Amino acid sequence: MSKRILITGAAGFLGSHLCDRFIKEGFKVIGMDNFITGDRLNIEHLQDHPNFEFVEHDVTEFVSVEGKLDYILHFASPASPIDYLKIPIQTLKVGSLGTHNLLGLAKAKSARILIASTSEVYGDPLVHPQSEEYYGNVNTIGPRGVYDEAKRFQESITMAYHRFHGLETRIVRIFNTYGSRMRLNDGRVIPAFMGQALRGEDLTVFGDGSQTRSFCYVDDQVEGIYRLLFSDYVYPVNIGNPDEISILDFAKEIIEMTHTKQKIIYKDLPVNDPIQRQPDISLAKKLLDWEPKTERTEGMKITFEYFKSLPKERLYKKEHKDFSTHIKR
Ligand code: NAD
Ligand code: UDP
Repeated sequence: MSKRILITGAAGFLGSHLCDRFIKEGFKVIGMDNFITGDRLNIEHLQDHPNFEFVEHDVTEFVSVEGKLDYILHFASPASPIDYLKIPIQTLKVGSLGTHNLLGLAKAKSARILIASTSEVYGDPLVHPQSEEYYGNVNTIGPRGVYDEAKRFQESITMAYHRFHGLETRIVRIFNTYGSRMRLNDGRVIPAFMGQALRGEDLTVFGDGSQTRSFCYVDDQVEGIYRLLFSDYVYPVNIGNPDEISILDFAKEIIEMTHTKQKIIYKDLPVNDPIQRQPDISLAKKLLDWEPKTERTEGMKITFEYFKSLPKERLYKKEHKDFSTHIKR
């Protein structure tokens, strides 16, 4: 009999790719989302699939699923700094109350649960590269604190459910991941630069661009998450690509790749924007025999083709999200 898996955040970037992967592996997938930062189009192709069902639900409210459940992947959460600045309370709630609800569901169903944590638990790191042993450097009351602290709480409550209730839990610390189905206007650097290139606008580098990131292609990320779920390791594992680049050099790469004539313009660096970020993936290599396979140039080309294929009106819509319609007061 097919295994049944619940994926929260299913209409988002990573959640929708995870739905595809688990369907491909023969699972029965239940996708759950309230569309606050997601998009129906990301799961439209699965609508009539016999092994896919979708439930529109805000996971900060009690979560109920009928029938057996073998696995839960909790991926619901705003993930872009612009999104979580606009909906800070929803961000705190989905990481805390939402995670509590899903842990409760996992316990009731005796399901194994994997939660999506983030490199942001390391904050603006003072240790480089970041290994799982590093405790981080987070400003609890800064604008990014709503995301970072929700994710840190998420890890703590997950470990508490594991230790106190014996729940089977897994924690992935995801480093910057990119690919198709990212929201073009969510403010993250890859859709931002690619959108600007397609609209013929100058590329906006924040600060002097010396801050670094390390970008992982979505297929590599999904493979790492898949292997972690079926491993027997309960502590957090970094999944990301260690190939580090400064944002200024990255902007130059995008200009070269897209053959655009725009220039780079500089804007203020957001508060608490991490200066350096690079995953130490030794643990994932050892435990999961995993490492990323996709070169940045290759992944960026595929992603740019995706953005290019979108209808023009989506390209010119500055922000297609009206968050207020999704927030229950
Ligand atoms: P995304 O915004 O594309 O997807 C998140 C999805 O969660 C959206 O579809 C949104 O509508 C849904 N959601 C949010 N709050 C919800 C709620 N209360 N109830 C139900 N659904 C809700 O973001 P993403 O990049 O796909 O990120 C997915 C997960 O991975 C998040 O938990 C994020 O923190 C984590 N993550 C992502 C990255 C990355 O680089 N993409 C890096 C680190 C961590
Ligand atoms: N950034 C930038 N220009 C943009 C968008 C982002 O220079 O138009 C920078 C941002 O300041 C950060 C990096 O790119 O240093 C990555 O930002 P992103 O929002 O993608 O994610 P983060 O890693 O900060 O969570």
